[in-house]
Amino acid sequence: MNASHPLPVNYENFREAIRDFLSEELTPQLTRAGELTTSVFSDFEAGRHWQRILHAKGWGAPEWPLEYGGTGWDIQQCYIFLEECRLANAPNPVMMGIQMLGPMLMHFGTEAQKVDFLPGIISGEDVWCQGYSEPGSGSDLASLKTTADREGEEYVVNGTKIWTSMAHYSNWIFCLVRTDKTVKPQAGISFLLMDMATPGITVTPFSSLDGEIEQCQVFFEDVRVPAANLLGEENQGWTVAKYLLEFERGGQHFTIDLKKQLRKLKDRVSSVSNAASDDPTFSFRVAETEIDVLALEQTELRIKGSLSSGENPGALSSLVKVSGTELGQRCAELLVEAAGQRAMPWQSDVLSPTYAGPTAAPAECVTTMAEYINSRATTIYGGTAEIQRGIIAKHVLGL
Ligand SMILES: Cc1cc2nc3c(=O)[nH]c(=O)nc-3n(C[C@H](O)[C@H](O)[C@H](O)COP(=O)(O)OP(=O)(O)OC[C@H]3O[C@@H](n4cnc5c(N)ncnc54)[C@H](O)[C@@H]3O)c2cc1C
Repeated sequence: MNASHPLPVNYENFREAIRDFLSEELTPQLTRAGELTTSVFSDFEAGRHWQRILHAKGWGAPEWPLEYGGTGWDIQQCYIFLEECRLANAPNPVMMGIQMLGPMLMHFGTEAQKVDFLPGIISGEDVWCQGYSEPGSGSDLASLKTTADREGEEYVVNGTKIWTSMAHYSNWIFCLVRTDKTVKPQAGISFLLMDMATPGITVTPFSSLDGEIEQCQVFFEDVRVPAANLLGEENQGWTVAKYLLEFERGGQHFTIDLKKQLRKLKDRVSSVSNAASDDPTFSFRVAETEIDVLALEQTELRIKGSLSSGENPGALSSLVKVSGTELGQRCAELLVEAAGQRAMPWQSDVLSPTYAGPTAAPAECVTTMAEYINSRATTIYGGTAEIQRGIIAKHVLGL
């Protein structure tokens, strides 16, 4: 066989190899962090530690092209890898660098930017956050007001970003900024990469409904950024941003998590007798949800196929985002119903992987309510469900 006719992959052997690696490398503390994950982010230190282990093995960004440190695995191998990681309760590293910025750097970046930034992303040394939304500019992102004025070989940035997930742990931020106020909104936006240690940047974390602190407001006051940190052309940031959003929406793996939630749900229903689990209409809702998850899996795999052959997923990623997040909310609701009052006790310190004290709720229910609350945000971030439906109506249905 030569390089153009690679040997067929034995997926069962591949899955076994992944399982062996996971059982060797995942410590009890890492899996505890995975079990206690109630949003897309696990405990930060556990996630970062895990990213370093993956990187040392050469698996830091499995889906990236080989030349940038990827694995060369096909879509099915990448899928199996993620599925096994989730099933083994590996913690989630902060993925904004790997899933969002990395593909943008490969597509729009200069050679120098690729060399400067890609290695730190894949190794986990650099943690990136996404500075798009502003107070007053979320769905209507093109109205953003943070400015970047060119002065010689620098931009001077002023303004604020909000809902910036994990900014308090990040040492870099990729931002949309206004570089021209005289043209129509989309035409005056640029994409800047900023070192969070630059004087004039302040980060203020705030807590979400469940008491966890993952989001921040970031303030910029006369922040001087080298012009070399512009990604793409000046005033072409909207093109970069749209490309990135398609990766954010389409590059996720909803069905792996959904299948895990369904498994949890079925275990809970079979192990406990209560009003919900004894109700035949409840079983019907679980079955209906499972069918919808299996249908979504096919669309998700189709998107992965188009991504791996270099196409971008386009409006299909909106479809997957709406279905994946709404199904996640359905699963989270069913899990609360199945847990009944056992989901009610609230004790936020229990969600820390180092917590070793008593728990008010039974062990299998300590994350149930927090997961439910966090699931409400999934149809808001990355573009709300209403906005996605608008995109589908226009670009898929041609309405
Ligand atoms: C948990 C969480 C994490 C986030 N993380 C980040 C992050 O890391 N980086 C970042 O940049 N942003 C982040 N965001 C921000 C997120 O992208 C925005 O909240 C989102 O785009 C919605 O914007 P908004 O909050 O300003 O709501 P608005 O845009 O004000 O929307 C309010 C309501 O009006 C509806 N609406 C608005 N316009 C239309 C329309 N044209 N048609 C129909 N309905 C419409 C919306 O669907 C929504 O229901 C995060 C948000 C959350 C909740």
